[in-house]
Amino acid sequence: MNLAVWVERNARRWPERPAIAVGDAVHAGWSACATHVAGLAGGLRDQIGLQPGDRVAIVMRNRPEYLEALFSIWHAGLVAVPVNARLHRDEVAYILEQSAASVVIVDDDHEDLASLIDDIDTLCTCIVAPGPQWNELAGASGLPITHRRPSDAAWLFFTSGTTGRPKGATLTHRNLLMMSLSYLADIDSITSDDAVLLAAPISHGAGLYALPHVARGAVSVIPASGGVDGGEIADVLRRWSGVSFFAAPTMVKRLASDPAILDADLTGLKTIIYGGAPMYLADLTVALDVFGPRLAQIYGQGETPMTITALSKADHADGAHPRWAERMQSVGVARTDVEVQVVDEDGVALPPGEIGEIVVRGDVVMSGYWEQPGATADTIRDGWLHTGDVGSFDDDGFLTLRDRSKDLIISGGMNIYPREVEEALLRHDGVAAVSVVSRPDPEWGEAVVAFVVADDAEDAPTVEQLDQLCLDHIARYKRPKDYRFVETLPTNNYGKVLKRELRERLKHEP
Ligand code: AMP
Repeated sequence: MNLAVWVERNARRWPERPAIAVGDAVHAGWSACATHVAGLAGGLRDQIGLQPGDRVAIVMRNRPEYLEALFSIWHAGLVAVPVNARLHRDEVAYILEQSAASVVIVDDDHEDLASLIDDIDTLCTCIVAPGPQWNELAGASGLPITHRRPSDAAWLFFTSGTTGRPKGATLTHRNLLMMSLSYLADIDSITSDDAVLLAAPISHGAGLYALPHVARGAVSVIPASGGVDGGEIADVLRRWSGVSFFAAPTMVKRLASDPAILDADLTGLKTIIYGGAPMYLADLTVALDVFGPRLAQIYGQGETPMTITALSKADHADGAHPRWAERMQSVGVARTDVEVQVVDEDGVALPPGEIGEIVVRGDVVMSGYWEQPGATADTIRDGWLHTGDVGSFDDDGFLTLRDRSKDLIISGGMNIYPREVEEALLRHDGVAAVSVVSRPDPEWGEAVVAFVVADDAEDAPTVEQLDQLCLDHIARYKRPKDYRFVETLPTNNYGKVLKRELRERLKHEP
């Protein structure tokens, strides 16, 4: 099945209901949206001459044309390559080359990417949306939806590259369909009265969460500013009902202390889906106080589009459960559509309580890395996707991440999971953020180093205080050997701390 059927179907059922909005204002109803999408699809195929299976990249901030581009690409049987709009030009060029994209659709901030046509053999056109060529394409006669097999590629998801050069996880129509159905099974039911706020970049999580909403005829709302701030969310909640959005933990934390949110009427807020990085218990507790039982956590990765486990809204609300705090530090239970195991180095499943690599199997798992059979074979073995994440199940099936396997620190032969050390240090009221990494150490192999951002640089916690917290809460050998007080932590565009960069910094020290 081609995912584009949802738009066509919604147009028949709810022609006048809003499909896409910018803030308060409706950009298009379903009927107009479907006409536009079918026209664009016709333009891409007939005017530009693309063939089913060709790749079309999108480099845009969140805006209505993003969704129109995505669905018209699918409608025409093409493969979308959504690229993070904040990447450096050379990084975009790398992705366009890797995916052998024929066309790139950009907003007016990225018009200069047109010059890449000279450098990239496959690239023949750069379309600015909105703009004259875009309008001309949309005016083409509507194309019937191109049939797609479930195994046909729909979205090349270039992973955010916290561990190296991005690779394109090939997500098929079946993968995205399973992801959408499993959202409906595990996170929330959705109706056409609901709305999804596309606050985070559509090229990543927010775009994925738009899909189950489009499937059910809910409106996709793009923040007028293109970003997220509390005031704007409060406005969206006044205008739209049943609003859900995805936010990285850092964003949830920021919103939970935003005065505009504290004053807002949250009746229209349905769900905040957070994930992509750990959310510390203290921050989660504050967020639950502010937002009520509207938080759901997901754990996933581009390779199995944000679908491995989830910690449901009901789990968050079950504060009386004796192991509630433990559960809140877990990533929840396996999603309906996947099998999840924790395995040892030989791929043998481990019992609850034992720590190993998390592997996943199911119809949501990517078909492989685009044109990279070696990397695919390393990652998908015997049908199981090896996530590179390390964790353990408890007896009830809740999975706790200990860390990415690459982040594991081995000091004096002992395994240290940075997350545990970070949790201990964050107990200090004066610590705003912390990231723990290793540096090579002649005696111990690796030594633990904590990068600490103080709430108030003038009144930063002392090393003695931090050491004492570690002594009070974790094994002695896990204590950082070294503390670095910094103003900020380096993060990627999605707010994830770049541990690799911190490790590099340490390597270059005398
Ligand atoms: P990406 O493919 O760039 O989205 O990164 C996926 C990685 O982010 C996973 O492999 C995990 O290491 C991490 N991650 C995703 N969800 C969570 C979560 N809920 N808690 C902690 N880490 C997460």
